[in-house]
Amino acid sequence: MKDSPFNIYEMLRRAAQSQVDMGIGEVIISRRTSSEDQVVDSMRETRRVVSALDLFGQAGGPPQKTPQFDSLEDHYQSICDCQLCPLGQNRNKFVYGVGNPKADLIFIGEGPGAREDELGEPFVGRAGELLDRILAAIQLSRRDVYIGNIVKCRPPGNRDPLPEEMDMCLPHLVEQIRIIDPKVICCLGRVAAQALLKTKTPLGRLRNQWHDYEGIPTMVTYHPAALLRFPAYKRETWEDMQKLKARYDQERSG
Ligand code: SF4
Repeated sequence: MKDSPFNIYEMLRRAAQSQVDMGIGEVIISRRTSSEDQVVDSMRETRRVVSALDLFGQAGGPPQKTPQFDSLEDHYQSICDCQLCPLGQNRNKFVYGVGNPKADLIFIGEGPGAREDELGEPFVGRAGELLDRILAAIQLSRRDVYIGNIVKCRPPGNRDPLPEEMDMCLPHLVEQIRIIDPKVICCLGRVAAQALLKTKTPLGRLRNQWHDYEGIPTMVTYHPAALLRFPAYKRETWEDMQKLKARYDQERSG
């Protein structure tokens, strides 16, 4: 049975339990609220308190790293019940990621849509079919690459994930990237690019150049859903994909 999204006390209790389960320290819950706006306010407050405690250690102690896992499967098992943000309350399926666990190329979108939420797999439906065609055009398939999202639970009404939600979820993706250790990353769309690269630069200025994510060359291009709405972007996307494939081949042969 799903809980009310406005049950902030329960949400924070689950968030605290998730963090304890993942071995990442102590969380203080300091107040109860009763509206969705207040949920977000409370997340901010909780984050400040957690930060003050040094989330991954004790107050005043040396910083400790996020727990690391040996495999995607171990990592998945540790976070698949995550309730760190309110998106977890209403999901049907947790959408972890799909593809080759040793991929040299990772594609990153922003978050699950309705179909992804139903099936538990990223990039299904029309946008997913288009991504498959884009991959085929550069002689790749889903079996060759890994595909994930910035947030793993569906934002209601297909809205963009909130900054607080992305902040809560991004460490999951960061750990996936660490485990997979790709040679190249491709961000699909503004939201994914800005979240991963920690920038507010518009998509138009992020495209057509290489970025660096933790030493990994990172490209930014349009989200396939945007290509469905604005087919004129396909030409630029094709140019991006050719550069991406050339860099991918180069990194693999080097
Ligand atoms: S979106 Fe991410 S942080 Fe929020 S509940 Fe889902 S897995 Fe957890």
